Amino acid sequence: MSVSTKKSPNQRRSRPELIFGDLWAFDPAPETADPKLKSRYDLFINGRFVAPKKAAYFTSINPGNEQPLAEIALAGAADVDDAYQAAARAFPAWSKLPGAERGKYLYRLARLLQDRAREFAVAETLDGGKPIKEARDFDVPMAAAHFFYHAGWADKLAYAFPGAKVAPHGVVGQVIPWNFPLLMLAWKIAPALAAGNTVVLKPAETTSITALKFAEILQEAGLPPGVVNIVAGAGGTGAAVVAHPLAAKVAFTGSTAVGKSIMRSLAGSGKKLTLELGGKAANIVFDDAPLDQAVEGIVNGIFFNQGHVCCAGSRLLVQEGIADAVLTRLKLRVRQLRVGDPLDKNTDIGAINSKAQLDKIRTLVAAGVKEGADLFQPACSLPPKGWYFRPTLFSGVQQSHRIAREEIFGPVLSILTFRTVDEAVEKANNTAYGLSAGVWTDKGSRILKMSTELKAGVVWANTYNKFDPASPFGGYKESGFGREGGKQGLADYVKLS
Ligand code: NAD
Ligand code: MN
Repeated sequence: MSVSTKKSPNQRRSRPELIFGDLWAFDPAPETADPKLKSRYDLFINGRFVAPKKAAYFTSINPGNEQPLAEIALAGAADVDDAYQAAARAFPAWSKLPGAERGKYLYRLARLLQDRAREFAVAETLDGGKPIKEARDFDVPMAAAHFFYHAGWADKLAYAFPGAKVAPHGVVGQVIPWNFPLLMLAWKIAPALAAGNTVVLKPAETTSITALKFAEILQEAGLPPGVVNIVAGAGGTGAAVVAHPLAAKVAFTGSTAVGKSIMRSLAGSGKKLTLELGGKAANIVFDDAPLDQAVEGIVNGIFFNQGHVCCAGSRLLVQEGIADAVLTRLKLRVRQLRVGDPLDKNTDIGAINSKAQLDKIRTLVAAGVKEGADLFQPACSLPPKGWYFRPTLFSGVQQSHRIAREEIFGPVLSILTFRTVDEAVEKANNTAYGLSAGVWTDKGSRILKMSTELKAGVVWANTYNKFDPASPFGGYKESGFGREGGKQGLADYVKLS
């Protein structure tokens, strides 16, 4: 960092944040595309928008300023039942359609999403709080990519599973979280449709808007009525979706606690189940790693999407000899992150998705301080309204601390050290989770050893948070089972005989 300052060394040490804060203040650069929001969204059942039977609605809030965005229909058990009946009626024709024809619908959905990419990006940012540059450059294009990718599989199922007879499950019930609302919808719907299933999907209660906007695209694409049904609501609606007798398969992404309860409730039902749950990934930096790249990867690993990422690199394991150097560079880098208006194109860290999530982050950070870890936060200013949290580093973290063991799901990094390769593996695997990990080292042989020994579904080497629809994603242990993406993800949406 080549920053010169006239302040005395003393002043610089006591308030360094302000020096950088002043230097890096940017003029506002809000994204201005129209998200084309309706004031009220109904349920999408059998190809039409319908009011919920009990006429109940809830409000979706913009976490960036706490303003209401739209009224969302709350689906009750009777509405969920309607959705399943519609999906069951649509199943025979949809599943018998030649794969190439199903593929055409998927290509159409992908292209329509691309056509409306800017509009969807703004809607996603307004409803969920993520920085517009992420919604624009990651969520929406990656959602379209999942439809393109699975469109390609629709007429090639026989090649994907050679020698086997391939059949869809039937109606699939899908429940998704709020951190990547549209992208999780794409991860769920695209493989289900490619394989010939029909769908009842429930978005998370704080982020229903892009799912219901996607229903507009389903109509525009002329998808046959009932093939995809979208029912909004909270946990009660989700419970009705997973418990419905017509669900041949349930796919859930969300917290480990809810995942466990779903697993218990489905036990013995014969329904196929896949769970994508929480994580507490180790991002491991060896002393031969290129430090500046590693620091970028650490920052991306934990601060992407405010840390609301199941595979976030929330535990930094750094080799002892370089721990001080890494921490110094990290602090410098974190001071430059711009926290604020999610719609601003320069924002690095947007709003925390909900008040409840902000409270959870605050509770765990307070526990970290109480248990004796060293907290660092830049003194960046936060917007007066909305739910925000400063990027936070905890050094001196012990394996027994809550912040080392529990998923915080916020912009909070816990830093631990290790001495040997074996100790790194042991510490990285010392968790109930096993979704992802990162390894930073110059040695190819070490990358291979680590990727074999780390109990994590994804291991990134000298990079972090890289995604591709062709690459399977999913967990070990309490991070769940089943895969999404790639041939492995497709396999979870078919019956083979
Ligand atoms: P959550 O489990 O509370 O909610 C997830 C979804 O489940 C929401 O749609 C919610 O309405 C619904 N739900 C709540 N109670 C339910 C019940 N009893 N039955 C059925 N559905 C129910 O999780 P959250 O706190 O909203 O989401 C964050 C969690 O999701 C984190 O733990 C994160 O790691 C995990 N996550 C995992 C992945 C992954 O791919 N592994 C991806 C994103 C998020
Ligand atoms: Mn919202």
